[in-house]
Amino acid sequence: MKVQKILDYQAKDSEIIKIEKDLAQSKNKKALVQIVDVVKQAQQISATCEAQAQEVLNQFNSLKKAYDDNIKTFLNIQNKDVEKLEENDANDIMKATNDLFSNLNILEKKLLSQAEKINSILNDYENAKKRYNLAREKHTFFKEQFENEQNKAEPQIEKLKKELDELSKNVDSELLKKYLEKRGDKIFPVFVPVINNACGGCMMELPMAQTDKLKRDGLLECENCQRIIYKNNN
Ligand SMILES: [Zn+2]
Repeated sequence: MKVQKILDYQAKDSEIIKIEKDLAQSKNKKALVQIVDVVKQAQQISATCEAQAQEVLNQFNSLKKAYDDNIKTFLNIQNKDVEKLEENDANDIMKATNDLFSNLNILEKKLLSQAEKINSILNDYENAKKRYNLAREKHTFFKEQFENEQNKAEPQIEKLKKELDELSKNVDSELLKKYLEKRGDKIFPVFVPVINNACGGCMMELPMAQTDKLKRDGLLECENCQRIIYKNNN
């Protein structure tokens, strides 16, 4: 009956695994991960907005400067004494004035469009900020919920580990060593029964030689899933 003890040990261990798995798959934990994503996205959007705003502002400033320069030129022309001008000069001035008006018109449109861009960036930024704040509130809530789950699970796990320790004293040391090795390799359950000549873990059918070996030794390592197969009635 030396297998029975390690099976008891494995059953107790599976209770711990279940609690740990429930924690890992907790809805609160998943919500937390999602919220962190939302926060990261919001931060990225803010950073992009800032960069865009800086670029638009630079464009706005250079347009504004061009606009002001044009106005200055226009005022200079206006201040010339018309009485003293030749006809050619007058034509030149007329042309220059027309060009300036047309330039000013274009610049004004560009300035307006930059102002619109700034508004739209501010809007994106505000939305990102709202999402960020909301996510932070939710984060606090779900973090608390998840910590409650953890606080509930921890003493349960501690208790089970103590019981596991007690059980280990009666387990054959070779079997326990093997068990812990495989458990460390994330193989679980480690010990599985033979079911209709197949491995009870991966269901692969055992070759004749392996079946004989199992009958002879009582235990057999599955070549496919590396679990340890035991005979049902030993
Ligand atoms: Zn197997």
